[in-house]
Amino acid sequence: MSLAFAQTPLRIDVVSDVRDIVQADLPKLVDDIDTGKLYPGDFLRAIGTAGAFSTHAQVDDGVDLNIAIDAMSEVSEVCGSTSFMTWCQSTLVWYLANTDNQALKDKYLDMAAAGDMLGGTGLSNPMKSFFGIEKMKLKGKRVEGGYRVRGALPWVSNIGPEHIFGTIFECEDGGKVMFIADCADENIELLECDSFLAMDGTGTYGVNFRDAFISDEMILAHSALPFVKKIRGGFILLQSGMAIGLIRDCIAIMEKTKSSLGHVNKYLVGQQPEDFMAKLEALEARVRDLAANPYDTSDEYFQAVVEARLEAGDLTMAAAHAAMLHTGARGYHKSHSAQRRMREAYFVGIVTPATKQLRKMLADMNAPQPA
Ligand SMILES: Cc1cc2nc3c(=O)[nH]c(=O)nc-3n(C[C@H](O)[C@H](O)[C@H](O)COP(=O)(O)OP(=O)(O)OC[C@H]3O[C@@H](n4cnc5c(N)ncnc54)[C@H](O)[C@@H]3O)c2cc1C
Repeated sequence: MSLAFAQTPLRIDVVSDVRDIVQADLPKLVDDIDTGKLYPGDFLRAIGTAGAFSTHAQVDDGVDLNIAIDAMSEVSEVCGSTSFMTWCQSTLVWYLANTDNQALKDKYLDMAAAGDMLGGTGLSNPMKSFFGIEKMKLKGKRVEGGYRVRGALPWVSNIGPEHIFGTIFECEDGGKVMFIADCADENIELLECDSFLAMDGTGTYGVNFRDAFISDEMILAHSALPFVKKIRGGFILLQSGMAIGLIRDCIAIMEKTKSSLGHVNKYLVGQQPEDFMAKLEALEARVRDLAANPYDTSDEYFQAVVEARLEAGDLTMAAAHAAMLHTGARGYHKSHSAQRRMREAYFVGIVTPATKQLRKMLADMNAPQPA
């Protein structure tokens, strides 16, 4: 049996199992998540059991991110906040799957891939710092058996007192070290954030490191830059799942207005569901190709990933904008999903790498800027 054939049933099972859990559980939770009344830990554990975070966890024979993206898109069709947490968890798994630190892998990878240990990533500040946008916020000092780390990250999502996340600090000599932070550490303090436009149920905190001891056992990579080069394609491409599901739902919202408002909505030229469906299909095809080979470290590949991510954000915001115009006053009600989808869509445009960072990255590569 060929490998491609052997993988087919797995793909169908994971995505359809996640879809079943989403359809059964998420619609009734979505408003409480959106308004910050609920952090959906049980839901995340349930889709973890179904395999949402595990298909990219075994990287020895190469890896394909498409199942993880497809599963995430099922979540995103219903709730953008939960799909962001799905990305956080999938990214945490991606870090653990790729570390050479076998002890750290043994400690957390299986639990994170199964959704039994939840967590996320604090890479926004380092990613911005690597592209010359801001300075590194965490500083580390070598000590016996590890490092002492201090500084603060303004936002880390999908965390809580029993969670973990991956991030990077800068040493006195300028070296960068990537590690797993354990939120249970008494010197790692979680700070409540002011409420956001959306994403309030995502377990998002400011994180203060008060000379926290990070043992060598928790180090993902003593030299973070080559590690980041290895994982950056996957980090960015996995976000496509957030975009694809949200766009699908915006198209469905537009479709639903056709019978009552089609006679006037047809004047929204270039913003019809069919227009977005064609663009979505093109985006999905690009992502599918790129996600089949996330270890390509060539400049051409990375440029294609950045371009696809920019298109994903732009199309998400455009589809949500069009859904608002199609639904009119109905969509302007707080009870209608169109306004929630619009608030969630902006997050796809501002989460790292944000639209403006992606455009800077293309400019730095001397690549053409899309209109
Ligand atoms: C709800 C939410 C969840 C997030 N979750 C994560 C996560 O899990 N992991 C992660 O690494 N990042 C997370 N982020 C950060 C996110 O990925 C982006 O980095 C962030 O949205 C800003 O990106 P930007 O490129 O637009 O930067 P900009 O907003 O242009 O600049 C960011 C910088 O501006 C400054 N700044 C921002 N807000 C204020 C303020 N209110 N007062 C003073 N200075 C300010 C800070 O120095 C900050 O570093 C989250 C952000 C939000 C809003």
